[in-house]
Amino acid sequence: MDRLDYARPLRVRFASAPAATLHVGSARTALFNWLLARRTGGTFVVRIDDLEAAGAQGATGEAILRDLRWLGLDWDEGPERGGAAGPYRQSERAGVYREHAERLLANGAAYERDGAVWFRVPPGTTVVHDAIKGDVAFDHAAIGDFVICKSSGGATYNLAAAVDDATMAIDVVLRGDEHLDDAPRQILLARALGYEPRRYAHAGLVVDAGKHKLSRQHESAGIDGFRRAGYLPDAMVQHLALLGWSPHGANEARTLPELARVFSIERVGGSPSVFDVDRLRAFNARALRALPRDEYRALIAGAMQRTRLLEDPAPDAALRWIDTFIDAFGAEVHTVGEALEEIARLREESVTIPALELERLRSRQVLFFLDAVSQYVDDQPELRDLLLAHDLPQIGAEFGLLKEDALQAVRMALTGTHDGPPLTLLFPLLGHDRIMIRIGAVSSHILHGRGLEPIKYGPGGVPFETIRATPPEPPSNRAGT
Ligand code: GLU
Repeated sequence: MDRLDYARPLRVRFASAPAATLHVGSARTALFNWLLARRTGGTFVVRIDDLEAAGAQGATGEAILRDLRWLGLDWDEGPERGGAAGPYRQSERAGVYREHAERLLANGAAYERDGAVWFRVPPGTTVVHDAIKGDVAFDHAAIGDFVICKSSGGATYNLAAAVDDATMAIDVVLRGDEHLDDAPRQILLARALGYEPRRYAHAGLVVDAGKHKLSRQHESAGIDGFRRAGYLPDAMVQHLALLGWSPHGANEARTLPELARVFSIERVGGSPSVFDVDRLRAFNARALRALPRDEYRALIAGAMQRTRLLEDPAPDAALRWIDTFIDAFGAEVHTVGEALEEIARLREESVTIPALELERLRSRQVLFFLDAVSQYVDDQPELRDLLLAHDLPQIGAEFGLLKEDALQAVRMALTGTHDGPPLTLLFPLLGHDRIMIRIGAVSSHILHGRGLEPIKYGPGGVPFETIRATPPEPPSNRAGT
């Protein structure tokens, strides 16, 4: 096929069967078509291929349109928008297909058998000049006559697609590999109907990390699932764009308009590409960090409201809390879903402390120290901006604890882990009550449990040590005596 002329507006289409959500492989196809249309100042047509599903519940293609809109892929002609070549739902085009089938019957290219209409495939070969795959030859003997209208009278996919692509004046049919075998049938049909065949481009399949074709049934492979899990459309678009398309050089195009300036079919590959959730997560983390603070805050507030973690409208104090949360966790989380998990953890009254870590806290001095920290917290009118790096070690020293031990003991009692955001952010995030309750839970667990007697051996019989207190230095230095 000749190189595409990007200086001329191209009419392209995205055709999708109705489904509960746009599968990521289809989303990639939709994106590439959208990019071609926008790059050339052309027209992006959306068509709903609902011949099979017509009449069935939820078969209107609404979910597909919703997912396209979420990705930012607006269409120029199609359902809801209309257009001169409509209607754009195949279920509303029965008359067009019937008329074309009759033309084929009349000119001898088709015949009736057992109530169905069959297309007669003459001997020979059809070469698909594919813009991505190159020339692919199909021996007609392997194709054989095929049904174009079922005995029920309804058109089959191949007739409908060939007729629609021709009557909607589509310049390039860009779609997934799985339809390459359909191309010779659609070309034969177009010729028999007196239409110039379309140009075709079949991009390599989108597979999962295990190299399996991503199943349409696999709900997690749907755009809506990713939306609900808190991914951003920008990150999804970035990942989809790189499924089979490679930018020229070190191109940094990321957003839809940037991608639309540089996209070309010549740089789309025909071999499978991997939809990699980890890569998407990395893009998403970057997209989250790049958000202006008020958008990031609004995103989290919205997600919290949907999961009933926050009232609507959100009080100012809650928005300040979210800001602190973003300071503490904003650079860590990959998705808003992960942020919600962290928030839920912060809201819990108790944490689980790993058994051996709890053992390290099993000492009178540590419990006294934690109790003093609890008292200290109770005394603070405001937990923001406390000088904890100074205050906590100072309290620790009163009980003979080293600075590191003191800080670690507080973090372990409050979070059950060794690392996490600075305590100065964690304190206001947890708030007075939760800090005191969590500390109280540790003391109560130890005192009402086995008591203050430490275990002697850890796993593997290794001698075990609790956090040890060093007795305070005697007031007078008797060195030298
Ligand atoms: N309805 C077909 C699908 O969803 C469209 C294929 C095509 O683009 O021709 O796969």
